[in-house]
Amino acid sequence: IFITLEGTEGSGKSTQAARLAQALRAEGHAVLLTREPGGTPAAEQLRAVLLKNNSESLAAETEAFVILAARRQHVDHVIAPALQQGAIVICDRFVDSTLAYQGYARGLNLKTLRTMNRWATGDLAPDLTLLFDLPVTTGLRRRQRDTAGQNRLDRETKRFHENVRAGFLQLARKEPRRIKPVNAARLPDRIANDVRTLVFEWLE
Ligand code: C5P
Repeated sequence: IFITLEGTEGSGKSTQAARLAQALRAEGHAVLLTREPGGTPAAEQLRAVLLKNNSESLAAETEAFVILAARRQHVDHVIAPALQQGAIVICDRFVDSTLAYQGYARGLNLKTLRTMNRWATGDLAPDLTLLFDLPVTTGLRRRQRDTAGQNRLDRETKRFHENVRAGFLQLARKEPRRIKPVNAARLPDRIANDVRTLVFEWLE
């Protein structure tokens, strides 16, 4: 079973990913917890290309190629083997981030990106996606507190992040069976409860 977690900056999805992994392990499941961009040594190097805050700007197309190259490594070396062994794989960001960031926010063609996503994943699609949704200002405030200025994306406008959020919500409306929005503006314990309920219901 392949579960992905998606959302805007500061949505708390990494914390929730770890808590979900713990809850599933407590029920006796084998769980692999991983993240994008990254997850293998080569893919982590590509992540650094994407996020390093230096003066060189990256075209949206460059971003897409870097992310998709990292994704292919991640799928081949980590995700697909774990699924084959019967583990539940929890991945922090996956194909929907490409559509939200490079598509809805940076303006690349969605159809092209979907084709490229399929190319990069070899048609591996998530079974369940949790979308951590919260107001952009709340997320950016949290993010600033934690990692101010370390990330190239910190340079983007509020409008950019609003477009990412709107993109994710649009994707959730298009695929309501797979993508489940979670209100991420609440306390971590309440969010974790919702996440567990959604996942355990899905597993039944
Ligand atoms: O999940 P996390 O916040 O660590 O994501 C790393 C960064 O990569 C974020 O700033 C996100 O905006 C960026 N990203 C991106 N395009 C993607 C996926 C992630 O710009 N397709």
